[in-house]
Amino acid sequence: MTERSYVDLKREVWDAGLCARCGACVAVCPADALFFPPAGEGGSPLSPASSGYCKRETDGVPCGACYRACPRAGDRIPGRSLLGESRAVVAARAAFPVPRKQSGGAVTAILQSALEEGTIDAVVTVTADPWTLKPRSAVITDAGVLAAHAGSRYNWQVPLLAALKDAVVERKYRNIAVVGVPCAVQAARTIRESDLDLLRPFARSIRLIIGLFCTESFDYARLVEGALRRDRRIEPWTVRRLDVKGALEATLEDGTIVSIPLAELASCIPAGCTTCTDFAALDADISAGAVGSPEGLTTLIVRTPAGMGFVNRAIAAGALETSDEVALAPAERLAARKAARGT
Ligand SMILES: Cc1cc2nc3c(=O)[nH]c(=O)nc-3n(C[C@H](O)[C@H](O)[C@H](O)COP(=O)(O)OP(=O)(O)OC[C@H]3O[C@@H](n4cnc5c(N)ncnc54)[C@H](O)[C@@H]3O)c2cc1C
Ligand code: SF4
Ligand code: SF4
Repeated sequence: MTERSYVDLKREVWDAGLCARCGACVAVCPADALFFPPAGEGGSPLSPASSGYCKRETDGVPCGACYRACPRAGDRIPGRSLLGESRAVVAARAAFPVPRKQSGGAVTAILQSALEEGTIDAVVTVTADPWTLKPRSAVITDAGVLAAHAGSRYNWQVPLLAALKDAVVERKYRNIAVVGVPCAVQAARTIRESDLDLLRPFARSIRLIIGLFCTESFDYARLVEGALRRDRRIEPWTVRRLDVKGALEATLEDGTIVSIPLAELASCIPAGCTTCTDFAALDADISAGAVGSPEGLTTLIVRTPAGMGFVNRAIAAGALETSDEVALAPAERLAARKAARGT
């Protein structure tokens, strides 16, 4: 591949409105020259920015790490099936209480069991400040902390994979699990499969990728500061749980459920989501979602031998329970609707 730089990334992805803000380019830039500017009045920035320094452009030194890590640069992966490959499809739940779980707590159970067994030493994921609901990317190494951060961050627009640099470069973890929505999963897989020397330390360290089904996400500033706080007088610390069930449902601490039609939240959806076609996290080792399983269970699509290994070990450790009460047709419908965004 011809060597590229952030200039090509800017032209093809940032300026074209395709950026998913996954943060992969920020994580792998060896010069720390890419960053996300702080959110302004209109919400979070649509893409990263450059300090202006670039190993390749400024010094003529071979690099191209940012371009090679980006899932939206260069050729897209053509025509894949709607729900992707699978070795097993099950409904699953944690075999222990996970009070903050989003569906069945299966994702927490798999990760917690792997941390306790030592097959992974860190999880790169998204947590949220309980007072502001502001999402942040995080490196979690403790099973108890992981359980405390169960649940879905729908207003997640933070560069998830920026925390990968902290995990690999600063803290030297070598057995990392990444949890993310499909755009972040695509980036993690792109990095894991890259043959670029500069990406190798990251590639070797990503042992497990868990993908969360995703229809869309919401910009933090526009959703929480705007649609909830300003328009509906809902303070973020009174929100116990957010869910998307045809509408955005906010369950408040006093038990009230506020339902907001998705049509009223169209302006909260970032541009990068409107061109995104992957619902089921096709590049993950294990994909997880709510749709297709009864309430209180997580639908798991196990795609790779590594994914199968982590699921089987969690079952053997008594952390995960599975059943065949799962139907893929509803997920297929959502995946078809999302795939149509690309046509
Ligand atoms: C933005 C978004 C949109 C989604 N849309 C759908 C949908 O349309 N249909 C559907 O069936 N399912 C959707 N999901 C997935 C669903 O909400 C659950 O995450 C999934 O069913 C797993 O549930 P669980 O109880 O097993 O996970 P839990 O045990 O609750 O664990 C969830 C794990 O995911 C991590 N996490 C939470 N939010 C994020 C995030 N934004 N990025 C990275 N990691 C995160 C947490 O840290 C935790 O480790 C979506 C999730 C997100 C974040
Ligand atoms: S999609 Fe991810 S890797 Fe690509 S430019 Fe945006 S933040 Fe960087
Ligand atoms: S729809 Fe979901 S997977 Fe796609 S860009 Fe938005 S957050 Fe990422």
